[in-house]
Amino acid sequence: MNGGRWRRSGKRLVASMTLALLFLVPGMAWGEGSLKFKPAFNLFKMQQDVQLGKENAEQIDKELPLVTDPQVLRYINDLGRRLASLAPNNNSEYVWTFKVINSSDINAFALPGGYIYVNRGAIMAAENEAQIAGVIAHESGHVVMRHGTHEVSQALLAQAPLAILEGILGRPGSLAAQLAAMGLLNSILLKNSRSAESQADEVGTYILYQAGYDPHAMAQFFEIVEKKYPQKTIQFFADHPVPENRIKAVDSEIPLLGPAKEWKTDSPEFEATKERLLSLPAPPRATPAPPASAGSSGPPPLPSSRLIKFEGKGFSIDYPDNWQVQQNEDAIALIPLGGIVEDAESGSAQAYGTSISRFQPPSSRQGNWGLVDATQELLDTMRLSNPNLRVIKQGGMKLEGRAALSTWLETDSPLQGQKERDLLVTTRQGDSLFSLIFIAPESLFDAYKPTFDAMLQSLELQ
Ligand SMILES: [Zn+2]
Repeated sequence: MNGGRWRRSGKRLVASMTLALLFLVPGMAWGEGSLKFKPAFNLFKMQQDVQLGKENAEQIDKELPLVTDPQVLRYINDLGRRLASLAPNNNSEYVWTFKVINSSDINAFALPGGYIYVNRGAIMAAENEAQIAGVIAHESGHVVMRHGTHEVSQALLAQAPLAILEGILGRPGSLAAQLAAMGLLNSILLKNSRSAESQADEVGTYILYQAGYDPHAMAQFFEIVEKKYPQKTIQFFADHPVPENRIKAVDSEIPLLGPAKEWKTDSPEFEATKERLLSLPAPPRATPAPPASAGSSGPPPLPSSRLIKFEGKGFSIDYPDNWQVQQNEDAIALIPLGGIVEDAESGSAQAYGTSISRFQPPSSRQGNWGLVDATQELLDTMRLSNPNLRVIKQGGMKLEGRAALSTWLETDSPLQGQKERDLLVTTRQGDSLFSLIFIAPESLFDAYKPTFDAMLQSLELQ
């Protein structure tokens, strides 16, 4: 990052320290130019970032509880716009809207095009204005570096040739719907890579400096809250994986930004906003998802579009953040609230969600074994407890570059009178068969399909 700067500032810089210092007076390219903030590969037009962000923001505004207090919103929008106006690669297309989610969890996220959400809990956890400015500056970094659509672009490119993609992206109509239909949008738009995090840190630190805040404040806030409130920051660090040597990286960037100044750290407005938030009714306990238990009417709430990572033994997979994890010795179930049905006769059964397990195919004892035969043996085992299980179709697929088999199944749902559709995906992992079953009643399978696709896409196998 800093190599380019020195090379550009003069061939004779190495000659002597004095000469170098002379170069460091006004005229020296400090800041944006020398730091080279350049968004990575992207298939989308800038206006499409805005469109995607807008469509997603509308969804989020419906799904998540927002703080509507005008004083709080005015403060966060004034601060946010002031910071965003200093962002590198800022574009007049960007919307720059700042909203506060009424949740005590410490989190913040950005949608493409300038839609930034900060949790009430993050504002309360910030010790001063510089720290919350750091959070907003970091999120602004994701926007101007176009990390959301960059990630989607990469995922798209892995699926289809460029020519086809350009056709799809050029079509009129809802982009989000088109991408959601490809099972891509929700899993990726908000998921930042570690390198995107480093870049958002760099941009955020740069913005803080330009705005006159202590540029250390952003990285410090992330460090402090992660240690101080591990339970409240899980989601933040799921969306924003911690870059390696975060503090060190930021510390080494700061001298490149310009001379040290009298940093601004706090403001009476920030303290007043915290007071104001304290005076409002406490935030609702959890993300509101109408509890739908078995026996009660209606299906579980639809899968949330926000995914979180489950780290299993030898694998990881993303799942909707309104689902729960149940583990026993031989399987891991990812289940929406109310996705388990209690049946007097057969005990409890999973009617919705995903079940992940490893199966030891009997044929593996003979050494050399095949995926198709092993999957058949698994199906035979499943039929013991589920005699009506029927294979509809089967085909080969790739899972992280490995040969895999997808098997579509139909059976009786544990929900009375309903048919169930299942997608079984199997692949070899060491000497066992790794299997995922995606489960929903037939009538709702299509509604769950984009989530199932996104989950499959996120699967990482060791
Ligand atoms: Zn981030």
